Amino acid sequence: MTDAPAPTGAPLRLFNSLTRALEIFTPVHPGEARVYSCGPTVYNYPHIGNMRAYVFADVLGRTLSSKGYKLTHVINITDVGHLTDDADAGEDKLEKAAAEKAQSIWDIARHYTEAYWADIKALNIREPAHWSIATDYVPQMIAFAKAIADKHCYELDSGLYFDTSTVADYGRLARAGTEEGESRIDPVDGKRHAADFAIWRKTPPGEKRQMEWDSPWGKGAPGWHLECSVMSEALLGFPFDIHTGGIDHREIHHPNEIAQNQAHSCSADSGARLWMHNNFLVERSGKMSKSSGDFLRLQLLIDKGYHPLAYRLMCLQAHYRSELEFSWEGLGAALTRLKRMVMAAERLKNETPGDAAHPKLAPCREKFDAAISDDLGTPIALTALEEALAMKKVDAGAKRTLVAEMDAVLGLALFETARADLRLRPRAATITEAEIEAILLRRKQARADKDFAASDALRDELAAQGVEVMDGDPLGWDWRLEI
Ligand code: AMP
Ligand code: ZN
Repeated sequence: MTDAPAPTGAPLRLFNSLTRALEIFTPVHPGEARVYSCGPTVYNYPHIGNMRAYVFADVLGRTLSSKGYKLTHVINITDVGHLTDDADAGEDKLEKAAAEKAQSIWDIARHYTEAYWADIKALNIREPAHWSIATDYVPQMIAFAKAIADKHCYELDSGLYFDTSTVADYGRLARAGTEEGESRIDPVDGKRHAADFAIWRKTPPGEKRQMEWDSPWGKGAPGWHLECSVMSEALLGFPFDIHTGGIDHREIHHPNEIAQNQAHSCSADSGARLWMHNNFLVERSGKMSKSSGDFLRLQLLIDKGYHPLAYRLMCLQAHYRSELEFSWEGLGAALTRLKRMVMAAERLKNETPGDAAHPKLAPCREKFDAAISDDLGTPIALTALEEALAMKKVDAGAKRTLVAEMDAVLGLALFETARADLRLRPRAATITEAEIEAILLRRKQARADKDFAASDALRDELAAQGVEVMDGDPLGWDWRLEI
């Protein structure tokens, strides 16, 4: 058997969308955790809702690491195809973006992949072991499709289709071929069942696509669902431990991956033991849809002056399975909360690390572990972190170590962020921090001299440049820039 060390803390219970129940995490390979997360389709910038999916996967990965499992995390980059929604026919999102911008499809994919990676970094999301790029795996996709074609597929003019009636229990994950799910699938002439899907999409006759490959079914491109089945098997092996994605994938994309996995492994096994889904970030005015043109990107939050980790904290304040509504007020509140934590952590920064197992800290540590082990209960885990930060008359070194231990799971970078980094600072502002501080110093002197007229004039001078002076602010912000 194995000599893998026993995991630390409480047993980790995770919600499995397949069984709709909480299950204790039991790794396929003792001591290891292999996780695959559906990544972005890089025809546009990710919106902050997409980034919620990766914050969730990151917390999952950090939790598994903190419990002692050797984590192998894969996130794919869909740089090929992907039609509008879950449809099988119609325009490719990537080809469309390339046509609109008159650039090569490869440049488009590269540009948006880099933009996505910048957001990953800004949100302190750990790099996975592999970024699997779909176009690197086309030969394996063709081999996979060939292996299942005879028993499970049929060919139409538009491509090779998977017959969903050939596998056991199709749609178990979605809980039926739901009407809601099926209404999102475009009808394609000749399909045997509404839920059948393309695993190879032929280039229409007379057309030349920028991305197309030769295959036994003619020139074309792999279906989107095929990409994830192939890359997850290639990098993690079937069965692996956990497959993640947003809740929308529970309806079509993941049931289709499961069907392919079952076909390829000639079994009823779904390919992953646990299928986990984060709920959506919603915004009332519809700014979360990439097709709306003016949608919410992380860069927009940064341009308005918000530190990106305030958005990370906003995500953690809700349980990943709950819908979360975005608002600027909510983001502002998260920023303030983060600032409080960073201020408390600043006092511990230079302490020599001690023993986090200090008896006085034990209840707090246990509360944190119980919360995070209960299906990643970040809202309660955050309160445990705040309690640890606020604890008085306790060995500072031990406290520092405990805070670092908790932050290793939550990823708020408390010891790497300074309070000045968190100041609301819109990009459009022209006045520099040094200029503001210099005027404030003159104002302080004027007040000390009881020259209130001069002091008021300096305050007005700042106000004219968008700086609001906040005398005696309990959080010590001192001033705020609003443009
Ligand atoms: P896409 O690039 O559209 O394939 O989406 C990337 C990831 O973001 C997928 O896991 C989606 O399920 C997820 N996702 C899409 N929209 C949202 C949203 N509003 N909130 C949370 N996750 C989302
Ligand atoms: Zn996927």
